[in-house]
Amino acid sequence: MGATMRALFLAEARRLELREVPIPQPRKGEALVRVRVCGICGSDLTVFKTGALAGPGTVLGHEVVADVVDDPTGTWQPGTRVVVYPPRGCGECYWCRRGEPRHCERPDDRRRWGGFAEYAVFPAAHLIEVADSVSDEAAALADPLGVALRAVSIADPEPGALAYVNGLGPIGLCSVSALVTAGCVVLAGDLIEERRRHAVRLGASLTLDPTREDVYEVARTRHPAGPRIAFECSGTAEGLQDIFDDAGPGAVIGILGIPSTPVLLLRMTVREQRAFSVAGPTVDSMRAALRHVGERPELVEIVTGRVGLADVEAAMTGLVAGEGGVKVLVDPAR
Ligand SMILES: [Zn+2]
Ligand SMILES: [Zn+2]
Repeated sequence: MGATMRALFLAEARRLELREVPIPQPRKGEALVRVRVCGICGSDLTVFKTGALAGPGTVLGHEVVADVVDDPTGTWQPGTRVVVYPPRGCGECYWCRRGEPRHCERPDDRRRWGGFAEYAVFPAAHLIEVADSVSDEAAALADPLGVALRAVSIADPEPGALAYVNGLGPIGLCSVSALVTAGCVVLAGDLIEERRRHAVRLGASLTLDPTREDVYEVARTRHPAGPRIAFECSGTAEGLQDIFDDAGPGAVIGILGIPSTPVLLLRMTVREQRAFSVAGPTVDSMRAALRHVGERPELVEIVTGRVGLADVEAAMTGLVAGEGGVKVLVDPAR
């Protein structure tokens, strides 16, 4: 192992910079890992597109599959293959002590060094071992699938319930798989046909283009009350506004995309719907995700590409434009 590594920095909106930098050293409680692959997340795309968080010290990427190199805490043997539970908290505030570092009051100043690099450091307690039977591609879905599984457990559907998923990127397709496994009848919407085909492969009963069809009326051909559950996964302003029209009275609505846009809640109020959001997985939901990908091997088909560090900017530009596949993995060894 050399003293330096290649890492990809977010210099400004839509521009990444490949640099040779010192390999980060683990601080108290942390382990050094070598990145095998790191998924490009929808949230990475939002940050890439807007330049939010851009600066000289920002390395994106949190959907990390890695080998442990050095764990001074003694928890992990070198060579252990792991995925990473992403949030890094102070470890001491109210939320960290509750085991919810995502809401940390004093988040770690180095939290922005992510997995688009050859090496990274993470809290040793946030590493989750990956079974040999699970491929790197499948393990890279632990984060988005952990979000979807958490959303399904919050929505707590009755068996046979009609569910609608809007937006069939990685989170939407993971949601389709999780809802189907929970026994729901799933209606899935996206503008892109390739993405609708993935949804059918994952067990969606019906797919549609929500800009061409009235989702609520189509759903009502299946159940007079329309969807009991609706997940907004497109992250678009229209998607977030429309989800309240798409779902029926009393429906539970999960907001899993990241839209930064005002919405009118009139429909939600009149239909007495309940809405919740999920900003990330939990350690438990990531463990459940690693089991789920073992049972649903077809889910790995949503991994549509693998790029080296030098090609990430082009890959992200394509994904932002709605092209270039579904889930793309960064492979720093390429
Ligand atoms: Zn993610
Ligand atoms: Zn904290």
